[in-house]
Amino acid sequence: MNMSEYVMIKCPICHMEKKVEIPTNLIDEAAHLTAVLIPKSIVCEHTFHAFVDKNFAVRGYQKTDFELPINIQEEKIEETTLLESELNDFENLKWNISPKNLKYIFRGIMFNKPTVFILPDSRSELKEIVERTINFLFNDTFKHNLTILLKSNYKKIKSDFKNYLVIGWEKILRDKDKIMNDQDMEVEEKIVRAFFRNASKTDAIINLEFEIRNIYKISQNVISIIENLEKDKDIDIMTLKDRLRVQFSLDLDIQYLRYILTIVRYYFKVYVPVNDSNEIQEFLDILSS
Ligand SMILES: [Zn+2]
Repeated sequence: MNMSEYVMIKCPICHMEKKVEIPTNLIDEAAHLTAVLIPKSIVCEHTFHAFVDKNFAVRGYQKTDFELPINIQEEKIEETTLLESELNDFENLKWNISPKNLKYIFRGIMFNKPTVFILPDSRSELKEIVERTINFLFNDTFKHNLTILLKSNYKKIKSDFKNYLVIGWEKILRDKDKIMNDQDMEVEEKIVRAFFRNASKTDAIINLEFEIRNIYKISQNVISIIENLEKDKDIDIMTLKDRLRVQFSLDLDIQYLRYILTIVRYYFKVYVPVNDSNEIQEFLDILSS
């Protein structure tokens, strides 16, 4: 058997083609497809995934700038259910809180961390606005333990929050579990940016609530697949992706699915017996250096 195969790879963005050497042992025999990461400078200047089957046939490509799922059964909330006061709250949020702050708060909640958000004393009017908007967004999904305090109040009762994740004004003040890593917060980044960029007040809110609910529901779908696995059996990430498509009509981007798996671990505290072939990435990184 050959140690490697030359496979014609075509970039899904610029369509440049090149033969790439892929070692045989990197293709998972048990999996239907293996996601091979093609870093930039291997074929062209783009980074993308090639999905390769057992016979080294390329079955598809995916850009690494992933998309949020679109084929969702869930329904968005009705525009008519939004109250005038809720619209105002969200407008206030948009104009007074940075995307960065919102992103940090979301991650704290979705990673199930008791969180304290400290506001400058001069922004006391924001306390209730943040509370109400967060309650609205996470209403029937993630339970949260978020405390919002003015800086002067926080200083007085600081010791009550020893084990908390502490978010300051646009910066992280304490993150013991190291969950705040700007490089791997792309999902939060995407949904928060979309909220800030949406010119329609109502759509911005409806879509944001929808994306949060999707993360919650899809995590539950993943858990139901994991729970039905044979005892002590692993599943590889591509098979999981396939099963989500077949059972729940979900076509998820691999990067988004990885995010969901983190939520399953951190929020739902469910063990995730999923194989993810990161060694392929390392191999191709060596090739490109
Ligand atoms: Zn390209």
